Amino acid sequence: MKYYTPLSTVAGYNTQVFFDLVLECSLQFKDFGLDSRLMSTIEHLGFSEPTEIQQKAIPAAMTGQDLIASSKTGSGKTLAFIIPAMQRLIRNRALSKRDPRVLILMPTRELAKQVFTQLRLFTTGSQFKAVLILGGENFNDQVKTLEKDPHFIVATPGRLADHLSQGHFYLNGLELLILDEADRMLDLGFKEEIDQIMQQIPQSRQTLLFSATFDDSIHKFSKSLLKNPQVITIDDKTEVADSVEQLIYTVDADRKRELLSYLIGSKNWQQVLIFTRTKKTADELAKEICKDGIKAQSLHGDKSQGARDRALLNFKQGKVRALVATDVAARGIDIVDLEYVVNYELPYVAEDYVHRIGRTGRAGKSGLALSLVSPNEEWLLTAIEKVIDDRLLQQWLPGYEPDLTKDGAPKKSQNKKKARNQALQKPTSKARRRR
Ligand code: ADP
Ligand code: MG
Repeated sequence: MKYYTPLSTVAGYNTQVFFDLVLECSLQFKDFGLDSRLMSTIEHLGFSEPTEIQQKAIPAAMTGQDLIASSKTGSGKTLAFIIPAMQRLIRNRALSKRDPRVLILMPTRELAKQVFTQLRLFTTGSQFKAVLILGGENFNDQVKTLEKDPHFIVATPGRLADHLSQGHFYLNGLELLILDEADRMLDLGFKEEIDQIMQQIPQSRQTLLFSATFDDSIHKFSKSLLKNPQVITIDDKTEVADSVEQLIYTVDADRKRELLSYLIGSKNWQQVLIFTRTKKTADELAKEICKDGIKAQSLHGDKSQGARDRALLNFKQGKVRALVATDVAARGIDIVDLEYVVNYELPYVAEDYVHRIGRTGRAGKSGLALSLVSPNEEWLLTAIEKVIDDRLLQQWLPGYEPDLTKDGAPKKSQNKKKARNQALQKPTSKARRRR
């Protein structure tokens, strides 16, 4: 049995901190009192036990109270809101026969599609209809879809706000609003569209906000949207799953590509997600490793939506072995059983390292996160070690040892680094070491 008590405050909210009175006694799906149809769907999909966030967020959401739930990427937040949403619809009578009852807002098209796919697993065969409303797709088709009185809408905020402003549907009967990946939503600057949507949603709704991180900006954002929410935070946002092995190879920047292709080829890695810091590097690297005989595509924000969808699908289906992505494009993407993540360049924001390597080792499966670190990136590695509160062993791979005679030599790149640090208002590595 689980008890919880207000114990501490997170960003100004009383946080319900859970503790086990009886150790080793975790909640099962059957303990939530879910409708039998919902239970059989869960069983049919092969989910035997709720994840930690599901154990806490599902009963909390089922009380009808507003909720903020944060837990690391890959911890199962999607079902933590789909299940209580389905339960609500099955059990409660609709306020209005025509208006949508549940709205799920997602920051990106890829994430919206993923959530929609999961939702469809639950709505297929039920009396409930779910629709997906995304930017970049045919507006008139969407108008027709909205006219069919769906129960669930999964949408990106911009396009949904457009439809609302043109009166294509109404949200007066909305009972449940879900904001997923709220931190990314803020990063991408959706606040205005969300405010616009909010004006059309009844105050009496329940609001659930999910996020990989919970900080002051989320707190501020949530203040205007949620009423007296329960707050559930699980895991430090910077925690790396135990199931992910982290490997660091120190190598000169100009030999990284060669080493990467060598590793993918010699170890026969079939599905590798590779991160770069910039779109340009992502494109260049994808081209280069193709030349090395490894099928690769890039994924970043400058690509058309069609190209992004294709790249992701090809990667998921195993038609390309390597997907080279930037942080924003890859955020939250869920690839079942992805085993290998490579940091071709370390991220400037140390927390992004955790998000990146969280693409593997999901739902307890094992994964390998390899970082190729050039000597001039060591300051970034130090920052990452601080964030994850762990030391990462740097290794040299025979034949790819860094050329130490180069160290300190490239005045030009050091000036570049200084300029970049100034631009990012980051201390230089020297200043960091002094601290
Ligand atoms: P998050 O939104 O927290 O990043 P997701 O909801 O995308 O995580 O879930 C990550 C993966 O875990 C998905 O592949 C999902 O199918 C799987 N998953 C979710 N809940 C469970 C569960 N109870 N048991 C096993 N796997 C689960
Ligand atoms: Mg998610």
